[in-house]
Amino acid sequence: MDKHTIKGVWGFNGTERPGAVYLAAVLAGHAQKGLPAFGIYGHEVQDADDTSIPDDVKEKLLRFGRAAVAAAQMRGKSYLQIGSICMGIAGSIIDSNFIEEYLGMRVESVDEVEIIRRMEKGIYDHAEYEKALAWAKAYCKEGFDKNPDFMQNSREVKDEQWEFVVKMMVIIKDLMKGNQNLPEGCEEERVGHNAIVGGFQGQRQWTDFYPNGDFAEALLNSSFDWTGKREPMVLATENDVLNGLGMLFGKLLTNRAVMFSDVRTYWSGNAVKRVSGYELEGHAKEADGFLHLINSGASALDFSCQARDGSGIRTIKPWFDMTEDDIKACLDNTTWNPADLGYFRGGGYSSRFVTDTEVPMTMMRLNLVKGLGPVLQIAEGYSVKLPTEVTEKLWKRTDYTWPCTWFAPRCDGKEGMFKSAYDVMNNWGANHGAIAYGHIGADIITLASILRIPVCGHNVPEDKIFRPACWNAFGMDKEGQDFRACQNYGPLYKL
Ligand code: MN
Repeated sequence: MDKHTIKGVWGFNGTERPGAVYLAAVLAGHAQKGLPAFGIYGHEVQDADDTSIPDDVKEKLLRFGRAAVAAAQMRGKSYLQIGSICMGIAGSIIDSNFIEEYLGMRVESVDEVEIIRRMEKGIYDHAEYEKALAWAKAYCKEGFDKNPDFMQNSREVKDEQWEFVVKMMVIIKDLMKGNQNLPEGCEEERVGHNAIVGGFQGQRQWTDFYPNGDFAEALLNSSFDWTGKREPMVLATENDVLNGLGMLFGKLLTNRAVMFSDVRTYWSGNAVKRVSGYELEGHAKEADGFLHLINSGASALDFSCQARDGSGIRTIKPWFDMTEDDIKACLDNTTWNPADLGYFRGGGYSSRFVTDTEVPMTMMRLNLVKGLGPVLQIAEGYSVKLPTEVTEKLWKRTDYTWPCTWFAPRCDGKEGMFKSAYDVMNNWGANHGAIAYGHIGADIITLASILRIPVCGHNVPEDKIFRPACWNAFGMDKEGQDFRACQNYGPLYKL
């Protein structure tokens, strides 16, 4: 009867034992008591002595397990905002009630000046900083400077900025997780903010004055740093908390790095042809185009897709499977370009790479709608490999020092959000997206139902949708059911 436990029941499909009867009774009881529970009933009859788990049951057990563990991992943790609202981005206006009631998390806030205080007062792990700086000098390659000659920073200033951005990352890590190695007298700072996800405002006050946060954002989101492979620490650019939370969902469901990006441009087949002469192929052709995912260097380096699976195929791996070769390859294929001083007067370095191979990806976005509450959008698709000269032509029209991914959502040509890539762009709820490796839309839907967040748009096949059994009592259309059930049960941790 504890409403905070996440419930799933497998009823064995057998003739000698009443698994189905047990399952149906349990689910009816839970429905009657207002406790959503997932029901799993195998398709084929099994003999009484058959201890195997059929594939259809396995799929549901694992989907339930991944989503339930993700929800449980968030509970009791924090979102740490460093700074506040970024430019005109409403996604960075924190709604503490939403985070408390829907996710069981709390909001911790520090002013960006805390980073400067720690730098000036020496409140960081000095040995770790030296190690990080030596690593950055050895493995993070500085890229070309796009600024006009008269604006470029001197070599001396650039070197100082390297030290600054590395120190900034060391400090943000401490802010999120704490660090027992902070100097004597810093017992409070040693504790950290128990953050499972965070956000850094950056624009405009910080970046107008200090080097930007791209180095810290890109690397904390990656599955490695100077300590070797390590769990990605989700950090949202521009303190876009709603995108940070989407990234967190993706990370917890996949154990992989997740990419933060602007959903910046829709390129139709015609537009690509007009400016480059190239005729789209494959998934991009099926979707009549693709979306340009690009943001100042906040994208996890894993999305250069330079890790290799057992067959040598390029991929994005769970962080614990990353090898030294994978890490080296991601770093070798990324440059750190002096920031565009038009955007970022304080300088810094933007990570720059291109996702030049096709892998499955899922883009998601959490939005808050006044009067309705939170809603989630999900688009499964593929990264698109364009010929190099086409990539160059298109990329140079926007910021050529930022990481670049072409993404074709899986579209079906039917009326609605997934008619074409244009319709996905045109229906997307905000300027950012959180992009995870693989086709994980079904897992996200299951997690969203646990959190009582309705999904307002997705391209997941209907037979993969797995929600608590009582959702079926809310009508016959899956989408309407979801809205009505989420409204009926309300947030999991409602105060
Ligand atoms: Mn952005």
